[in-house]
Amino acid sequence: MKNLIDKLYETSVLTKEEYVTLISSHTDKDSEYLFSLAREVRQKYYGKDVYIRGLIEFTNYCKNDCLYCGIRRSNKNAERYRLTKEQIMDCCQQGYELGFRTFVLQGGEDPYFTDDIIVDLIKSIKSEYSDCALTLSIGEHEHKSYKAYFDAGADRYLLRHETADNEHYGKLHPHNLSPVNRKKCLYDLKEIGYQVGCGFMVGSPYQTAENLADDMLFIKELQPHMVGIGPFISHHDTPFRDKPNGTLEQTLFMIGLLRLTLPYALLPSTTALGTIHPLGREKGILAGANVVMPNLSPRSVRKKYLLYDNKICTGDEAAECRFCLNKRMESIGYNIAVTRGDVKQI
Ligand code: SAH
Repeated sequence: MKNLIDKLYETSVLTKEEYVTLISSHTDKDSEYLFSLAREVRQKYYGKDVYIRGLIEFTNYCKNDCLYCGIRRSNKNAERYRLTKEQIMDCCQQGYELGFRTFVLQGGEDPYFTDDIIVDLIKSIKSEYSDCALTLSIGEHEHKSYKAYFDAGADRYLLRHETADNEHYGKLHPHNLSPVNRKKCLYDLKEIGYQVGCGFMVGSPYQTAENLADDMLFIKELQPHMVGIGPFISHHDTPFRDKPNGTLEQTLFMIGLLRLTLPYALLPSTTALGTIHPLGREKGILAGANVVMPNLSPRSVRKKYLLYDNKICTGDEAAECRFCLNKRMESIGYNIAVTRGDVKQI
């Protein structure tokens, strides 16, 4: 395995078969070797800086019915909420005071938020916080909507591709959702000029090592600025309630592979990773990640944005999360940077 990891380190790409071999048959020793190279590459581009993004989960209404997701349309037990513009602006203000220079507006695909409403929100946030980056994570939209958001000032867009394999995509989503359209959205976003993030769940139901290898090849082709990955975690009110969770080990290994495949990339150590292990986010950083995305949503709604069971930090205030993360990052020799945290090179 060491020769394959060395090859990836030197050339930043492997064949599908080589990725499959690494993903399906590495040992703990291989992982440690991969992580040491991933840290070295990360260090070269980003030093010991960890970028923070303030996540504002502004609506949990969703018109989609993704089989894995706790806020899917047909989950009648989800208590729905929408934040008002005033609440969203308050989140930004609190976040700014805590040192956040990127805000992420994330939500379900909620038709209440028309393009006009989203554009107005973007303009208000960007005029109040012109030194901050604004990221949207609100799902699939028409090219003209993405363009309107961008022209209003949105800088970045997160849209996980979820899985690059069409057949696998069909097992995770209802049939009205198309893997082809999902990918088209990512290319549209890139062409418009956004910094783009794709990504996938590790250990999602029916996923194979071949699927993960295809994810790596898709990412190599798309050349996104960011890649968000985290373990699949089952939610008790979804059809996948009895499916096993993705593992810490496999998720960390994929982070390491991503760092060597896209050396410059912004790679978050996600909340889902922190949910399956108490030190998950620290381990993610030590496997090559360089971003964390703590929650800025008001405490009153945090438990309602439940994509999966046992999500961490749902009882904390934004300030508590910020200080907790500071301590966690310092404990492993890294430090949170007060900056927009743009990608270094593409
Ligand atoms: N509606 C937006 C935001 C989705 S939520 C969109 O379509 O992009 C953000 C991400 O959470 C999803 O892309 C998915 O990869 C992840 N997610 C959803 N349910 C999950 C679960 N049960 N376990 C782990 N991650 C999950």
